[in-house]
Amino acid sequence: MDWDVLDAGKYRDEGETIAALLVDPPLPPADRLSVERTAAALVKVTRENARRQGVVQSFLQEFSLTTPEGLALMGLAEALLRTPDAGTQDRLIAEKIAAADWASHLGQSDSLLVNASTWGLMLTGRLIEVSGMDDAKGIIRGLAARVGEPIVRAAVAQAMRIMGEQFVLGRTIEAAVARAAKDGLICSFDMLGEGARTEADADRYENAYANAIAAIGRTASGPEQAHGISVKLSALSPCYEAVKERRVWGELYPRLTRLAAMAADANINFTLDAEEVDRLVLSLKLLDRLTREKTLVAWSGLGLAVQAYQTRSRDVIASLAALARNAGRRLMVRLVKGAYWDTEIKRAQVAGQPGYPVFTTKPATDLCYLACARRLIEAHPDLYAQFATHNAHTLAAVRAMAERAGVSIEYQRLHGMGGALYRAAAEQFGPLSLRVYAPVGAHEDLLPYLVRRLLENGANTSFVHLLFDDETPPWELARDPVAAVEAGGGSPNPRVPLPQDLYGDRRNSKGEDLSIAGFRKELENALAGARDVDGRPIIRGTAAGATASKIYNPFDQSEVGVSAETSSDQINAAFAAAAKAQPGWDALGGVARAKILRAMADALEEHRARLSALCVREAGKTWSDAIGEVREAADFCRYYALLAERHFARAEHLKGPAGETNALELHGRGVFACISPWNFPLAIFTGQIAAALAAGNAVVAKPAEQTPLIAAEAVRLFHKSGLPPDVLHLLPGKGDDVGAAICVHPGLAGVAFTGGTDTARVINRTLAAREGSLLPFIAETGGLNAMFVDTTAQREQVIDDVLLSAFGSAGQRCSALRLLFIPEETADGIIEALTGALDVRAVGDPADFASDIGPIIDAEAKAALDKYLAHLKITAKILKQLKPSVPAPLLFGPVIAEIRLDQLPDREVFGPVLHVIRYRSQELEKACRAVAGKGYGLTLGIHSRLTSFAERVRALVPAGNVYVNRSMIGAVVGVQPFGGEGLSGTGPKAGGPYSLSRYAVERSVSVNIAAQGGDPALLNS
Ligand SMILES: Cc1cc2nc3c(=O)[nH]c(=O)nc-3n(C[C@H](O)[C@H](O)[C@H](O)COP(=O)(O)OP(=O)(O)OC[C@H]3O[C@@H](n4cnc5c(N)ncnc54)[C@H](O)[C@@H]3O)c2cc1C
Repeated sequence: MDWDVLDAGKYRDEGETIAALLVDPPLPPADRLSVERTAAALVKVTRENARRQGVVQSFLQEFSLTTPEGLALMGLAEALLRTPDAGTQDRLIAEKIAAADWASHLGQSDSLLVNASTWGLMLTGRLIEVSGMDDAKGIIRGLAARVGEPIVRAAVAQAMRIMGEQFVLGRTIEAAVARAAKDGLICSFDMLGEGARTEADADRYENAYANAIAAIGRTASGPEQAHGISVKLSALSPCYEAVKERRVWGELYPRLTRLAAMAADANINFTLDAEEVDRLVLSLKLLDRLTREKTLVAWSGLGLAVQAYQTRSRDVIASLAALARNAGRRLMVRLVKGAYWDTEIKRAQVAGQPGYPVFTTKPATDLCYLACARRLIEAHPDLYAQFATHNAHTLAAVRAMAERAGVSIEYQRLHGMGGALYRAAAEQFGPLSLRVYAPVGAHEDLLPYLVRRLLENGANTSFVHLLFDDETPPWELARDPVAAVEAGGGSPNPRVPLPQDLYGDRRNSKGEDLSIAGFRKELENALAGARDVDGRPIIRGTAAGATASKIYNPFDQSEVGVSAETSSDQINAAFAAAAKAQPGWDALGGVARAKILRAMADALEEHRARLSALCVREAGKTWSDAIGEVREAADFCRYYALLAERHFARAEHLKGPAGETNALELHGRGVFACISPWNFPLAIFTGQIAAALAAGNAVVAKPAEQTPLIAAEAVRLFHKSGLPPDVLHLLPGKGDDVGAAICVHPGLAGVAFTGGTDTARVINRTLAAREGSLLPFIAETGGLNAMFVDTTAQREQVIDDVLLSAFGSAGQRCSALRLLFIPEETADGIIEALTGALDVRAVGDPADFASDIGPIIDAEAKAALDKYLAHLKITAKILKQLKPSVPAPLLFGPVIAEIRLDQLPDREVFGPVLHVIRYRSQELEKACRAVAGKGYGLTLGIHSRLTSFAERVRALVPAGNVYVNRSMIGAVVGVQPFGGEGLSGTGPKAGGPYSLSRYAVERSVSVNIAAQGGDPALLNS
């Protein structure tokens, strides 16, 4: 089957999808009312039985996530148990407990135990507050004077464990199976853990699943009546991504077939959990192939979870029904609403997608769930329907549909949730077929799962949260989603703007979704057009000059286009034309200039496939970097257009005494030189030019020697977008020649430069030596960027962010991570995971979507890296060097090397080399000072759950861009204004509210209006 067609509906218009759902309501009108009544009755009974609910449920009810106290507890729950050292545990407890108002919860819960815990938390908080946050250890010691320090820590840790145990059936599969037998449960067991980051992780998870299947197989068999297993495909491979489909078949699929064969032997239900939406089609392809495995044909336990919050979920059910029919076998389908809603919304926004792959209102998800439920029931017997919900209305509606169709169905709930509701349902309807999703694992592994459950229990849109909130009447909880959707006008959520409208006052740039095969094909096709590009000088809108140099693809040395050195006559002609055109351009004003910049942004997006392809071929960028490049260029144009309108449209009137008017005007300075680097050949090139133009300057732009082609394309697009050709000229050539000639040219009014610190110094000296007016110099240079990790940090997040920050773009970003500081206590584990995760990265052809890391830009840069590596081999401990996947002269395998604090490099090594330094907690300040002492100040990363740790590091290490618990690269225009201090640059930041100030002159105009004889305004007031 062609599963890729499902991607056509991934971002379909939400309003239209809802309208289509409303045209064909899942329940006939007669059933709608009775289902509401049944659901309301279920809510009432469940509430009456609520006294039987566990203390943890009452606790979660009282400390919901809408309160700071609930958030504090979630923060503790997420981090405390994995924090190995007592000192940090104490600080974490102190910080989280002190930050909240426990007294406000006193006596609020019906549960005595909850109130007692509240007292405990409040007293701890009070003691902590009295002594302040700085001395958390002292405070805990103060407490310990009475109750003993280990007791406080142990008590809080125990509380967190109890909270975890609410949701975990057993630490081992044997314990879980025994408990299920004791409680009379039929389960689908889930082996806890994060997605695999390394092959070793995938081995470990495969073994855990295999053991579990063996243990389940020993109990009973039969897909419907016996225990089953739920498998997360992301646990079986660190490469479970659409762009790595080849490896998915080679590495993940064999693991999956081994497990499926075991499950088939045991004849149990084997369900593929639903994960991120980007993985949907891939999971369906894997399922499809499994259905065709000859050895598995007789088995009817194979299944998959489907998320109803995805707007294309109805189509998914229809396709699964077709798959089952074609394969002549039954499939089990678990219908869920979906567990990662907030993550999906965020991902779509960050990636600038055309819409959301999920609904944005809860009623729409509920409605779609019912629509899918109906299709699922209708697909009986090809599909076996399993309904996973804790929502009384959903439960009742599904039951009504199944009864009407005469089809028996299975319900599912999560362990620790929904028990009271299903007891009420059994009281009302008689015995139901119910399976419990039962996580199994140790405390360290449960944390991410626990947080998802806490979010689900604590969110005020969630049914389980409202169920125990007596303020919400049963009828409201039992409301038919059709009515709720209609009441909202069938519209998307107005509080969740489309990704492109995120910023309100300017459009977010458009992204590409590389998980969609169709988009990948479009980009691949564009590669063919990214050749024979003319990168010669463009003076007065015309490309001219003898073609002296060919430009080659750094990966395979194929020719991409031609360029030429700009001659001194051309430089003079460009300056003369620009100088002549500049006053007119300045006089146009901010509004008219903004229009042209926005047209440029649109043009960049219109040609984004071709431009991305050119970034791949000329600059060796991977596809995702290339797309990011085009997006950033478009964002710069739109952001500076906004600033042009804000600050350059009219004079700003200033307050002053009666009888005079005072105003401040901003104007362009004249002809600005924009000198840009090869590592962002489109984004920085366009960004500098857009800033200078927005401020009213004419521009002579000198691109890097390595990347004149993409620059020439950008200049042509500027001109096509309405920019007068005389206002922007392209002057390619060597820095020593063309760059130097520009900097000494008498027509020059200022320089914007991004590149190495040494070149910036040369330009600075050249400008200082000039006669005449003093020119502004805006420089954005390198960094020796560090990340500090503490023991509260989460391992998988650290691994993902470190690898992306250090090796993304082959480390050829000024923001890239160079120095990673890890705490002694967790260092070995982090290093093992880092090297293991690096092992599965692919260094290869950037045009191959599966490549993570492309080539070094040229032979000179590669030779410098080789030389540095030779030096490291003597002076440091090489923890890992990854081999390129294919032979190519400019591929350089990323390196992780361990060094001592006294061996920190003095200069930036521009490539994929990460230095790791272990530190003891008492050495933190020394380590921070050592980094600060190098004089750079560009980016700084911090991974910690302790605000006090982050603040301490920030105070000691100056940096223009600080990133906490995330990667250190990919600053977004207008969101994370970018630029450093010290040796890293002069400011103002790029893409920030003050970006244009140095590109402009300020003119203050004061007019004595009383000179005419008086101030009419004053006399009239
Ligand atoms: C047995 C079982 C197995 C599960 N397996 C999976 C799985 O494989 N993959 C997975 O992703 N989840 C899985 N889940 C989790 C499941 O997605 C959530 O428990 C479920 O969404 C809760 O639905 P509900 O009907 O109980 O609650 P409700 O409170 O009625 O629904 C909550 C759901 O509504 C959605 N929602 C909330 N706000 C909005 C909004 N503004 N716009 C749109 N939608 C919104 C969210 O998806 C949220 O989860 C499973 C759950 C169970 C019970």
